[in-house]
Amino acid sequence: MKAEIIAVGTELLMGKVVNTNAPFLARELNALGVDHYFETVVGDNPNRIQEVTRLAEQRSDWIIFSGGIGPTQDDLTKQTLAAYLGEELVYDSTYLKRIEAHYQKRHIALTDKGKQMAYTFKRGVTLGNPKGQACGSAIKKKGHTYIFLPGFPHELKAMWRESVVPYLNPSQEEVMTSRYLNFYGIFESALADKLDDLIVHQENPTLAIYSAEGIVTVRLTAKGECLEANAGILEDMTRQILDRLAPYYFGEGYGLTPVKALLDDLMAKHQTLSFAESLTGGMAGERIVNYSGASRAFQGSLVAYTAEAKQRVIGVEAKTIESVGMVSEQCALEMAEKTRQRYQSDLTISFTGVAGPDEMEGHPAGTVFCGFAFKDRPTHIESYHLSGDRQTIRQRCLFQACFDVWKMRSQKSSQ
Ligand code: ATP
Ligand code: MG
Repeated sequence: MKAEIIAVGTELLMGKVVNTNAPFLARELNALGVDHYFETVVGDNPNRIQEVTRLAEQRSDWIIFSGGIGPTQDDLTKQTLAAYLGEELVYDSTYLKRIEAHYQKRHIALTDKGKQMAYTFKRGVTLGNPKGQACGSAIKKKGHTYIFLPGFPHELKAMWRESVVPYLNPSQEEVMTSRYLNFYGIFESALADKLDDLIVHQENPTLAIYSAEGIVTVRLTAKGECLEANAGILEDMTRQILDRLAPYYFGEGYGLTPVKALLDDLMAKHQTLSFAESLTGGMAGERIVNYSGASRAFQGSLVAYTAEAKQRVIGVEAKTIESVGMVSEQCALEMAEKTRQRYQSDLTISFTGVAGPDEMEGHPAGTVFCGFAFKDRPTHIESYHLSGDRQTIRQRCLFQACFDVWKMRSQKSSQ
């Protein structure tokens, strides 16, 4: 089986938007064990969309389109392919009703352009969109399968997992189940080395490794006759992997970060969290409130960037700053403890350090001190030496600190 990805969108060709859908789909195809030799980007132009489709048909079985299924003038992927294949598009009644209700609620008149989001191939199937209005569609014709997905990456990903994988599942007698294991503090290549034999001999489950923001994720996909059989296969492989990589593991689940893992643990134990932010400049709070339900644990951040602010807002001692400076264990400790007292939190994490590129107080960029102040045990200080640009250093320091606190807490609770 060979698959090919066609990303549709003039904005991609103009360099305004980076084509992230293709690498996502590539990894997914890899996990399904489907060969993938070609990817194309094409503008919102019917002739050129047809031209690349004709080429794709010569070399691939599955042709996967992303983009151009929305309500605007330039969204013409389904229409173009319908004309090309000589197939009819009809409105999917469920989606049409959903779209009508959506427009009504917002007091916007629904035009034919809006309705086209409910287009599906009459002789094909509708692919559900859990995150948006436009439905996807798929049709099989003359040995080819044509799949139409939205351009918005979060919609495309959700549709892929919930609708496309079950549809494509080559053998309908089997069910497919995936599990995502997340690791921090190890390079992707080092992790792959540790699993080398499992990767080389993979059959069922298949293993795919990918990384983002320093998190390395191993995705296991099992195929079996039922969910229970798959659970057994996944459990067995999970155990083999964790035997080798336990120190880096922080939990299971798609898109899990160390921040979310810590938040989940705090929420489960009905405990509270606050941050004392210098290096992160508010980013720690920003990242955590991205998760719904964060208010059940997260109380707030004190952001104090300058030396004066650290003294006035948080209460760091002037003599600390004079004697050892802001980039110091003592400063991280006072930031964490004083902020914890202010919020009365179960846990406070402080972040102070050098984002770079220039050095500060004689410390090179990437020198970071984090304080972990607990309600029920002595404050712990960690120092890190991180590399990367400013953004990377700030983000890595947040993830590393959350990972380390999560580990400390999980070790404590397993004792
Ligand atoms: P809409 O309802 O907005 O019209 P659509 O399904 O028709 O959605 P597009 O119009 O092609 O999709 O793209 C919507 C947005 O999704 C684009 O503006 C772009 O930001 C993003 N996008 C599109 N294609 C890609 C891609 N291949 N990779 C990453 N982002 C993309
Ligand atoms: Mg569009």
